[in-house]
Amino acid sequence: MSSLKGKIITVVGSGLIGRSWAMVFMSGGYMVNIYDNIPGQASGAITEIRKQIEELQQAKMLRGNLTAAEQLSLLSSHDDLLQALEGAFFVQECVFEDLEAKQTVFHEVENLVTESVILSSSTSCLMPSNVFSRVQNRTRCIISHPVNPPYYVRLVELVPHPETLPAVMDVAYSLMTDVGQAPVRLRKEIDGFALNRVQYAIIAESWRLVQDGVISVKDIDLVMSEGLGMRYAFIGPIETMHLNAPEGMEDYLQHYSEGIKRVLNTFGPVPDFSGEPADRIIKEICELIPAEQEHLTVRRERRDQLLMGLAKLKE
Ligand code: NAD
Repeated sequence: MSSLKGKIITVVGSGLIGRSWAMVFMSGGYMVNIYDNIPGQASGAITEIRKQIEELQQAKMLRGNLTAAEQLSLLSSHDDLLQALEGAFFVQECVFEDLEAKQTVFHEVENLVTESVILSSSTSCLMPSNVFSRVQNRTRCIISHPVNPPYYVRLVELVPHPETLPAVMDVAYSLMTDVGQAPVRLRKEIDGFALNRVQYAIIAESWRLVQDGVISVKDIDLVMSEGLGMRYAFIGPIETMHLNAPEGMEDYLQHYSEGIKRVLNTFGPVPDFSGEPADRIIKEICELIPAEQEHLTVRRERRDQLLMGLAKLKE
């Protein structure tokens, strides 16, 4: 993989995720060409990235072995797609979550690059077989789904198109590892991938418990942030099962599987997320954290600081 060092990655779309991907790739020593179809947007992204990288350096939170100046020298902005793609071995698409927009981008990109270039999408919940349906050679297509913000949360879900070559998965896996992300491989495509399927299961049960008057919004969030989330930050649910019985997983299943099945059978239907329960939940969360931008920005900054601290602790 060290042979890829100094090579070029093109980031298409310079919004929240495009900027964050650019920072991740630069931190690993890759050259990054960032492109946006709104003229001037990509150069504006560079101004924003420079500010963030310099602040991170001051706070001693900059990722990688290069200085802020060294990382910034790897970055260039482009209003022209062909120019942005020149010399790239990997294209990370980060445009709006809109199927047609993504299909059009990949169709255009494929016509401008050679066969060996890997085409990767950041999509959160579109299926690879749809995103890449207008690409001729789908063996080099992959979804690399980051978690927001990818600079602090290192998980990347790698999801293949049914035709994706294993070697393409391997290159994406090595690249992500090389830049300090934590890639996981899905063996086949599935709606929601893995992260959102688990996340939605948690959202659904949390919502039902508040909707049914069992618990308040404040307290269900504490169940996660002061309870489950504490250990899930470093061990997953399967390892948790394994560690939670004296003799490991078999012991755990013997003691707890009946109880788990009994409780799971009491789960209600998929919530509507509308009407009176939604009004009530919106009111409760807005009493805790008012919806004005200033409050949300403060909470997001606090979240990012804590995530940075946690990521450092895990290093
Ligand atoms: P965003 O709205 O912040 O940015 C999208 C950018 O793409 C804009 O700068 C826009 O000008 C540009 N763009 C649109 N069409 C384009 C085109 N044809 N060519 C080039 N640039 C184009 O969006 P975002 O939050 O950065 O999301 C980008 C992708 O990442 C989406 O697919 C999203 O689902 C995924 N994602 C988002 C998050 C998140 O939490 N925001 C997390 C994981 C994945």
